Amino acid sequence: MQIIENYINGALVAPISKKYIDNINPSKGQVYSQIPDSDHADVELAVAAAKAAFPAWSTCGIETRAHILNKIADLIDENLEELAKAESIDNGKPLSLAKSVDIPRASSNFRFYASGIQHFAAESHYMEGTAINYTKRSAVGVAGCISPWNLPLYLFSWKIAPALAAGNTVVAKPTEVTPMTAYLLSKLCIEAGLPNGVLNIVHGYGHKAGQAIVEHKDVPLISFTGGTETGKKLAATAAPMFKKLSLELGGKNPNIIFADCDFDDMLKTTLRSSFANQGQICLCGSRIFVERPIYGKFKNAFVEKVKKMKVGDPLNDQTKMGAVVSEAHMNKVLGYIKLAQGEGGTVLAGGDRVMVEGDCADGYFIAPTIIEGLSHDCRTNQEEIFGPVVTIMPFDTEDEVLAMANATSYGLAATIWTQNLKRAHRVSHQVKSGIVWVNCWLLRDLRTPFGGMKQSGVGREGGFEALRFFTEPQNVCIKL
Ligand code: NAD
Repeated sequence: MQIIENYINGALVAPISKKYIDNINPSKGQVYSQIPDSDHADVELAVAAAKAAFPAWSTCGIETRAHILNKIADLIDENLEELAKAESIDNGKPLSLAKSVDIPRASSNFRFYASGIQHFAAESHYMEGTAINYTKRSAVGVAGCISPWNLPLYLFSWKIAPALAAGNTVVAKPTEVTPMTAYLLSKLCIEAGLPNGVLNIVHGYGHKAGQAIVEHKDVPLISFTGGTETGKKLAATAAPMFKKLSLELGGKNPNIIFADCDFDDMLKTTLRSSFANQGQICLCGSRIFVERPIYGKFKNAFVEKVKKMKVGDPLNDQTKMGAVVSEAHMNKVLGYIKLAQGEGGTVLAGGDRVMVEGDCADGYFIAPTIIEGLSHDCRTNQEEIFGPVVTIMPFDTEDEVLAMANATSYGLAATIWTQNLKRAHRVSHQVKSGIVWVNCWLLRDLRTPFGGMKQSGVGREGGFEALRFFTEPQNVCIKL
């Protein structure tokens, strides 16, 4: 059984308490490794190491930092097979997805910010004949980075890379649900020659290790991705301490399909935007609104395709739908399907746990599920399910669909399908979400701002937005 260790001050170490948590392979329902059950004492060591490493790291120069980040990216690429397999086993996601999306994106994150920091320029403002202002941006100190389980290494590196590139040192906590690739990353950081204490990875529960990072007086900025309820708790701790906070939270994203769309492209992409990673991507479109003239055609074609989707062993190269991340999560998702039926919904496809034969007989699998007949304001259509479950609803007018699309407390992403250019812009501008995709989904340019409106978050990641978050501006005004 593999024992995961914390990465503190350049070394792999056991938690001080010597206590561990079981790590479960969700496609088999079996414990296969152990995770440190770290607490405030481990976090204390990690913060002390990060604090001691800060002066040298923040002043070593951007080329030195970029060089090491590029080296980490190269090592991720060289170890793609091992990392992808580890991610698939830990999370239940198809190996093909981990190989083509999760791990390549993790190395891109390091490479992108290794380059990005070298293009991050200070601003200056000239006051005609009177003065010149320049705005210096410096690393803040020890950054706390806390990430979720759905895209483990991808989202972990999305925070760590800009934090380190900007010159901060980091104490990071991956989720206790999928810690394996963060552990493997710590080994690659050692191999890459990252100086001791620059990155520290503390494993364990959110309410213990995570909370200890958030409330630590020497961690002045927190970058968090996870659920909205957890985000509220974090904010309650961090706000009175005046910490910088970046919160990437939940979503309940609308997928708005107009009758004039390119039907085949829309259908193909809607299958992905509904069920990729078992629907466990914060950007998945879980509420599908279809203009009435094509509602019947869409429903028949979508149901037919979804019924053919095979759920199975994530390590099988042919598998497109793997296991959901845990037993608790499976039960939560199945509970929502029951709730939907109680609210008057009809299950058109899926609806149940899937029992996979062979090695995966005890795994946590759910059939991709389509539900119709629900009002847009029922609980099923308001609360984040975060699994392979979508609802479909007809609409008649633009105003009506916008009102329904915007009627949740979330505002992360939206997808719009139409060939009408003016409508594409008009609807995009009225939909209340931080990210809008027109005639596509999950097409990502890492330079663009990433994040949500309303209860989907505070602040933006991506591009220079992240570098702004991980630096403190200071304006210097010089009289001429
Ligand atoms: P979660 O909120 O349960 O946990 C996220 C992380 O926070 C974990 O590492 C956890 O250990 C930690 N944590 C929990 N309580 C904490 C506390 N009191 N103090 C500090 N840390 C604490 O989320 P999850 O179940 O791992 O992930 C799923 C959620 O993440 C969904 O809501 C999804 O929408 C969201 N998500 C959002 C984005 C985005 O970019 N907006 C991306 C991916 C996932």
